[in-house]
Amino acid sequence: MILDQFRLDGQVAMVTGAGQGLGQAMAIGLAEAGADIVGLDRGECQDTCEIVQKIGRTFHQIQADLIITEVAVLNSIIQEVIQMFGHLDILVNNAGIIRRTAALEFSEKDWDDVLQINLKTVFFLSQAAARVMIPNGYGKIINIASMLSFQGGILVPSYTASKSAVAGITRSMANEWAKLGINVNAIAPGYMATANTAPIRADSQRSSTILERIPAGRWGTPEDLQGITVFLASQASNYLNGAIIPVDGGWLTR
Ligand code: NAP
Repeated sequence: MILDQFRLDGQVAMVTGAGQGLGQAMAIGLAEAGADIVGLDRGECQDTCEIVQKIGRTFHQIQADLIITEVAVLNSIIQEVIQMFGHLDILVNNAGIIRRTAALEFSEKDWDDVLQINLKTVFFLSQAAARVMIPNGYGKIINIASMLSFQGGILVPSYTASKSAVAGITRSMANEWAKLGINVNAIAPGYMATANTAPIRADSQRSSTILERIPAGRWGTPEDLQGITVFLASQASNYLNGAIIPVDGGWLTR
């Protein structure tokens, strides 16, 4: 039956940046669909942990700062998941940061930090996950892209570079791993109300300019990503590879 294909019972999903915002909502959505959750964040994921446990699923926290975590450590994090659960079925590469400064003043640190967590970690965590998924012939990797995977943005050159590249590596990994049973796809959220966008929502002029362009007439909420995340994490998306799916209230269609 079709709805059974969306169930994730018995599966293990790792979500990076699960402590708040979009990552928290996606972790909750995956848990509601039946998955146990590994939350990877630099801080405590206390709220997410409590909600996932209330749903009746296991929550395991791994603490790591993904700006400074070396590739070898990313590999050992995946091994920790395998030792604990025996398998990893779903990886959501969500943790990401943005630094806002004009291109003329943009610093090397703001370039390197953003590229490190938003791009390099996404690739090498996916590589480590794929290495344990491929022997099972099954796995789902979901990257979080952005409107700036398609557009230039304002004052965020390293973020635009990273998210444009996330779209590229989503396609490149999908091309190599599709025949091995691994689906790699990306969600490109529009303007979502989280801590990440608090500064632009606090700027009333910028906020109303953004709202005027969104056909749905509102900012997105973290919960708006739960349906697409469960779909991409489930067997219902088995023939979807390398797609970058906007969830943007119609922003890109204008
Ligand atoms: P958020 O509310 O700032 O949450 C990001 C999460 O990642 C937090 O739990 C944060 O931990 C964690 N994190 C930050 N730096 C980290 C690090 N160095 N190591 C490990 N974890 C770290 O952001 P969000 O809006 O949910 O964004 C999540 C993803 O969606 C990002 O990739 C972002 O680029 C993307 N996105 C967001 C929007 C939007 O409109 N919000 C739109 C498009 C794409 P702390 O709580 O400790 O900071």
